[in-house]
Amino acid sequence: MSQGLTSRRFDVIAVGSGHNGLVAAAYLAVAGKRVLVLERNAWFGGGVVTRELTLPGFRHDQHSMTHIFIQGNPLLLNDELRLKSKYGLRYVFPESPMSSIFEDGETLAMYRDRARTRAAIARYSPADAASYERLSEKAAAWLPMIAASLFAAPMPLGASTAMLDQSREGRELWRTMQMSTHELLCQHFKNDRVKSHLARVAGENLVSPDEKGTGIGLFVFLGFLEHYGFGVPIGGSGALTRSLIACIEDHGGTVLPEMDVVRVTTKGGRATGVVTHDGEPLEAVDGVIAAIHPHHLGRMVEGLDAEVASDAAATEISQNACITVHAALNAPLRTLRGAPLGSVMVELLPTEYETLRRSFDELRYGRLSNYPLIGLGSLSEFDPSRVPSGKATVQVWDYVPYQRADGRSWDEVKGDYAEKMIRHMGKFLQNMTHENILSYHCDSPVDMERTSSSFVRGDLHGVAMPSYQLGAHRPTPALGQYTVPNIGHLYLVGPFQHPGGGVFGAGRATAQKFCEDLGVDFDQLLS
Ligand SMILES: Cc1cc2nc3c(=O)[nH]c(=O)nc-3n(C[C@H](O)[C@H](O)[C@H](O)COP(=O)(O)OP(=O)(O)OC[C@H]3O[C@@H](n4cnc5c(N)ncnc54)[C@H](O)[C@@H]3O)c2cc1C
Repeated sequence: MSQGLTSRRFDVIAVGSGHNGLVAAAYLAVAGKRVLVLERNAWFGGGVVTRELTLPGFRHDQHSMTHIFIQGNPLLLNDELRLKSKYGLRYVFPESPMSSIFEDGETLAMYRDRARTRAAIARYSPADAASYERLSEKAAAWLPMIAASLFAAPMPLGASTAMLDQSREGRELWRTMQMSTHELLCQHFKNDRVKSHLARVAGENLVSPDEKGTGIGLFVFLGFLEHYGFGVPIGGSGALTRSLIACIEDHGGTVLPEMDVVRVTTKGGRATGVVTHDGEPLEAVDGVIAAIHPHHLGRMVEGLDAEVASDAAATEISQNACITVHAALNAPLRTLRGAPLGSVMVELLPTEYETLRRSFDELRYGRLSNYPLIGLGSLSEFDPSRVPSGKATVQVWDYVPYQRADGRSWDEVKGDYAEKMIRHMGKFLQNMTHENILSYHCDSPVDMERTSSSFVRGDLHGVAMPSYQLGAHRPTPALGQYTVPNIGHLYLVGPFQHPGGGVFGAGRATAQKFCEDLGVDFDQLLS
């Protein structure tokens, strides 16, 4: 029997220790189930992990760094699993969640305080500042409805469209959901810098502001930014993973590394367990929670309906992939004017909006952007516990095609690309220089895919987020309720499920489904 296992029989087996799998597993452990979590990697957390990627004592968030949407999830809002009160999870919420630095050294910051953002925008355009206020008021009004839809199983498409069609407000929301960010920005804003800054909001979803269906993202983002802020986990993103594992273990569960699940076994139309890489079968009496990408579902789940498998295999991956650089720094970063960065996320932008749009256009044709789309976060500025005294870390990201037009492999050229990113940053920052960089680590889209099978082709959302792959149709209509047709007791988690990529804690909705099928009263469980 594999090391760490004393039995082959569990109530619940979770495939993968990503935060969504852990969240679902933790609720079931609290429900009194004997839970086993199996992780392929030597470390836990998938996209929610903090590791010493460069030098000892420098802890880097390899993927997600700020926890935004999960702040609105009852999991944290009501501390349902006591992650904060008992298992050590702590956040700080900096006053400025996001800012942009333009290539001429000017800056534009957004604050949780609407009046401060309004004043910052007014320096560029008083009319745009007034528009911003109107839009953020609307975002605040829509937030409760939007948040409620993010943390529960999605409503069927027909029903949700019919519901929106019943009121003026609903019809406006539906219209905004179909629009591109660009169309929305052109309706409300005039100034190029304001437009570029807000357009990067859509860009953080790996898509161009010209992409239809991204308009609503601006409202979601503004609503969360002001109401909840951008959470910076003390000790790094992996603090969430650690608190979830502590909760599972405290309730008798087991979480094991280096256990690659190769198959989900089924019998008589229900999931019965899993088989690991060494051929070991393990039984799950109540069911299996699985972070299986739709492209892999057909080969991993015994007896899966052929149509379900082929629809899943045909899901679209984002055209743009992510490349990251993690650097250990001798001293914190400073802008060209000598100021600290001051925001959780910082975008480095051209002064002209069209340049930004054209960068995304290049990617559409599989080419590298002429103007890098660089964002960065130096969260040691808000949480010095991650670095030796006086030092700093930075995570930098840019968007690139997964398949290079010149045919060269990312393994071969990622070092050159990282150097290009660092050179570009030198135009915006005083000390992003080799004198200040003690060491760095680069993850290409191919590396991203290697660290978690969710990030197929470097897509940090698992599958793309066009409207036909959202809500109850994410990743496909058949798989949109976290369950699998004709295979009972198999429950899906992952960024490719509703509500999509990001640290949402969406595994809570999966656990609700699981509990419903088991006849466990979810609300009672938490009281
Ligand atoms: C570079 C980057 C930056 C990001 N930044 C942010 C951010 O700042 N904020 C934010 O909200 N989101 C961010 N994201 C997105 C976020 O990290 C992911 O959407 C989220 O982590 C997905 O969580 P998950 O639990 O659904 O899946 P994952 O985190 O992908 O976890 C799945 C886990 O299952 C394991 N697994 C899969 N198959 C098997 C198997 N067969 N056997 C055993 N184990 C298996 C994998 O190894 C992995 O550990 C970022 C992503 C990337 C890549």
